[in-house]
Amino acid sequence: MIRMILSGQWLMHLWLIGFVASTILIGILTGFFRAHKVQPKGFKWKQLAFEVVVAIIGGYFTGLLLGTTNRYLNAHGLIIFDSRPVGWWRIAIEYVAYFLLFDTWFYWLHRWMHKEPFYRLIHKLHHKSTSPNLLTTVSVNPLESFINGGFVPLFLTVTTVSGLPISTAAAVLILPTNIIMGLYVHAGYEFFPRWWHKSWATKWFITTTFHDQHHKYFNWNFGGYTTIWDRLCGTMRKRFESDYDMICDRRAEWWRRPWIERRAVAQAEPHEG
Ligand SMILES: [Zn+2]
Ligand SMILES: [Zn+2]
Repeated sequence: MIRMILSGQWLMHLWLIGFVASTILIGILTGFFRAHKVQPKGFKWKQLAFEVVVAIIGGYFTGLLLGTTNRYLNAHGLIIFDSRPVGWWRIAIEYVAYFLLFDTWFYWLHRWMHKEPFYRLIHKLHHKSTSPNLLTTVSVNPLESFINGGFVPLFLTVTTVSGLPISTAAAVLILPTNIIMGLYVHAGYEFFPRWWHKSWATKWFITTTFHDQHHKYFNWNFGGYTTIWDRLCGTMRKRFESDYDMICDRRAEWWRRPWIERRAVAQAEPHEG
């Protein structure tokens, strides 16, 4: 056992775990997380316990549904990748096509899931979380995960059948995007700069606050990757930009305080979630 732990691979893992744990601890002690929290008083143990149960049970059925679908499509040659070396521009085109198409799929199905009886039957479970955290990402009805996650096998099948299979390099980027974006929008912490939602170049890409407000106010901000459809259809929360400014101002104000004062507050009131 000792020899195994001391072997290169284990040491590497231990180092990584130690690095992540100490980064989180430093973040808590210095008030870094407190300053960046979108809803400072939003954490509830009851919500977290509910999310754990849904994540475990829902995760099992989601794996079953998506796993069976993927196995069927692969076994019947309906998902094939182009493994030849390709230029960066082709990888970029394929990735952007996926990104925009998924965003469209997600926006419209998300709005549909907010209508009764679909809301009650499918989407309500995810909205039990009014102040998202990383676990909220997987606190989802398996049917909803199948509807959203099903876009990837559908996209890959359509490209295969139409004779334009996605390159392996683009697939490597596409496959983890959903889970990374899911974790990012539910993180509960805002790290992007104040100008992000004002600049013509960046305001189209959502940040954590955008989806956080969907959980807090329900019928606004339906987009999953971008703000495009919400801006086009007038479903972006009217006060989103001013609230975003307020969150960024609160964060800046925290960092302007003397270090000694920040440390005293952070240690006197341990920050949760
Ligand atoms: Zn929703
Ligand atoms: Zn959500």
